Amino acid sequence: MVKERPVTRAPRRRSWLTRAADIVWPPRSLASDAIVDRPGSIEAAKWTSLTFLGPPCCACCGFPFEVQTDAAALCGACLADAPAFASARAALAYDDVARKMVLDLKRGGRRDGLNAFGGWMARAGAEALAEADFITPTPLHWTRLLERRFNQSAWLAQAVGRASGRAVLVDALVRRRRGRSQGGLTASQRRRNVEGVFRAAPWSEGRVAGRTVVLIDDVFTTGATAEACAKALLRAKAARVHVLTLARVVRPVDVVI
Ligand SMILES: [Zn+2]
Repeated sequence: MVKERPVTRAPRRRSWLTRAADIVWPPRSLASDAIVDRPGSIEAAKWTSLTFLGPPCCACCGFPFEVQTDAAALCGACLADAPAFASARAALAYDDVARKMVLDLKRGGRRDGLNAFGGWMARAGAEALAEADFITPTPLHWTRLLERRFNQSAWLAQAVGRASGRAVLVDALVRRRRGRSQGGLTASQRRRNVEGVFRAAPWSEGRVAGRTVVLIDDVFTTGATAEACAKALLRAKAARVHVLTLARVVRPVDVVI
């Protein structure tokens, strides 16, 4: 796990209309209710509480290690039961600050953090993105999409696509059953809840075969959803599936999403 100060883009000139809007609706920090000078930014005091993830970690699932080991070292879980995905990486540890950002995005439909999130994720998943043919989001069931009117994973996929220059295929996968939310379920319940739920969309099968895919989601909790999506892409003959999320639960037993 590494603490670092993320790279921010050089500020662009802002129109008088945008500056006038800032007076009426001042931009709020992504990490708190503090007023900040630019939309999609975080006040200095909160930067230090963000935990960006990186090596040393499990070569497969990205679980952070305390000490530097062999770059190919795997965690106990991946050794015991190898995931279907080739790798999983996340930009941030899922702590209170990351949780606020994820919930604002997922439940509040807040989009002003997307450019920052896309940049962080593109950096965390640089290796996988370098070999990717396309990026695709974890799908919602169409009834949930109608209710919510957006899929936050699709927004993140588009943001990662903009940051990395990789192609985005927003509908490579479909969710066959709505099922219950993964929130509050144990690891084994989560696995059962998403078993067989995803499949490659009939219209995308020809575009998946032989391709390397980066699957995007907001949070990697136990990996059950990522595993089910990876299996669906592999059934459609994808060559490899990598997973890239905005945040990752580091201690699943401690966190309720
Ligand atoms: Zn692992």
